[in-house]
Amino acid sequence: MRVPGGVPRRRVELFVVPHLRETPYTVSVVDIVHRPGEMREKSIDVVVDDEMGNAVIGVRKGAKLHIDARLEALHDGILVSGDVDGTAEGECVRCLIDVAVPVEVEFAELFAYSFDEAFDYTVQDDHVNLEPLVRDAVVLSLPFQPVCQEDCLGLCPECGVRLLDNPGHEHEAPVDPRWAALAGLDGLTSEDTGRSGSRGKKEKS
Ligand SMILES: [Zn+2]
Ligand SMILES: [Zn+2]
Repeated sequence: MRVPGGVPRRRVELFVVPHLRETPYTVSVVDIVHRPGEMREKSIDVVVDDEMGNAVIGVRKGAKLHIDARLEALHDGILVSGDVDGTAEGECVRCLIDVAVPVEVEFAELFAYSFDEAFDYTVQDDHVNLEPLVRDAVVLSLPFQPVCQEDCLGLCPECGVRLLDNPGHEHEAPVDPRWAALAGLDGLTSEDTGRSGSRGKKEKS
């Protein structure tokens, strides 16, 4: 439906402040808001429904995270601190086997009572939503280049076997680079000379 001026009437709904969407990460602070000095502790177990990380390493969908949070009422907001435990999964950047990396990271953020540019988070409908700060803390804690073990030797550049699984691995008769070069030249001669090219065309027609 449109009103004069061409603005769709439904558009008004977009400006309504959304109500809090309760998730496993939302915690009620109704009993401590605006009561400086009050403190609560809360433990939460969540099943991750939106991956935290990247293709190489991350806390995958369906993984469990345990969050221990401490909620302290201050004058201008709720200070939320605590730690999160879980396991990130990915692959070794050297040998590509699956790796599981323990995640154990601390967080601390102030949830302001009213919007304030100095703070990233606000108390909403007497709740705090721990999801974004848990996500940030977890993602920042992930190793940039995960390895299965510090001295992982990676893969054999010639045949691709995992070198840690094959101690002493070597190739007895490595291809002499000079022969490899000759083989390449031979290929060029038979495929790319004008003579063989024209012969190929004749065979096709
Ligand atoms: Zn490795
Ligand atoms: Zn090899």
